[in-house]
Amino acid sequence: MTASIVVVGSLNMDLVMRMSRAPIGGETVPGLDFAMLPGGKGANQAVACARMGANVIMVGRVGIDPNGDVLKAGLAADGVDAREVKGLASTHTGVASIWVEDDGQNRIVLAPGANGLLDPASVARANTMIDMAGMLILQLEVPIPAVQAAIDRAFAAHVPVLLNPAPAAPLPDEMWKKIDILVLNESEATAYASLDVVDPNSAAEAGAQLRARGPDRVLVTLGAQGVVVVDGGGARHFPAKKVKAVDTTAAGDTFIGALAAALCEGQSLDDAVALGQAASALCVTRRGAQTSIPYRRQLATTAV
Ligand code: ADP
Repeated sequence: MTASIVVVGSLNMDLVMRMSRAPIGGETVPGLDFAMLPGGKGANQAVACARMGANVIMVGRVGIDPNGDVLKAGLAADGVDAREVKGLASTHTGVASIWVEDDGQNRIVLAPGANGLLDPASVARANTMIDMAGMLILQLEVPIPAVQAAIDRAFAAHVPVLLNPAPAAPLPDEMWKKIDILVLNESEATAYASLDVVDPNSAAEAGAQLRARGPDRVLVTLGAQGVVVVDGGGARHFPAKKVKAVDTTAAGDTFIGALAAALCEGQSLDDAVALGQAASALCVTRRGAQTSIPYRRQLATTAV
């Protein structure tokens, strides 16, 4: 049996409201529709891994409230082991209030709640799971000390670490050296590198800069322009599949989940990227975050 993927990260309930335009201060405008959708980069990536067929363990924190129950039940429905997603009585489940204007412009207010209380001691409860994992995946929607503790543990146990440094935040130098695979989008790459990342050439240059800090493989995703991979073999550009995109939410999370699942099966990096692109291309043709993440059987590609 393939070793499990451990995801240490955030879980949020996304409260999505569509409106013709956002209100100004003191104003009330009518909402056109409303949906409560499971999200959070950690949970999205855990679900994406699971829908690609991986065994997944999620480590995170929710409140003891209905949103937390729904999020945990959603993970369980996708076969994700959520025993280390504990409920905390002192706070609420993470909530993202997302306003979507008719012109497609989004405004998001994120109240992290329990995500903000994930600490090294919480991560230590999962040490044995990390030691036995095929890969550890993290993002930056939980506090850096928790991320650092998980990475240190995986590094000591020779477990490959995939970091998606989103949202971009300063990272300690020693952390960079313990990352095997860094996956980030163009705005995050721009934040970490000393140039604007807008196309495959600038992504290759940024990737090389970031690789020099420690990660063996750097993947810069470029939305509809695809992905640039920088590894020991140099930089390679993989154009995205041409699809009619309706909502790019969770595109990066889907890409990461499929990439990780394929790598844990022993597929080559290029084949894993192909699976990631096939999965994320299908994701962007659907609305929502976790609702839009495809199952492997839905992908029509030779890489499956
Ligand atoms: P993020 O969601 O983190 O911003 P990106 O937008 O870069 O990530 O998307 C990740 C991957 O999803 C891309 O590398 C690409 O493979 C795929 N993707 C994103 N947008 C599109 C699109 N409009 N058409 C086809 N594929 C897309």
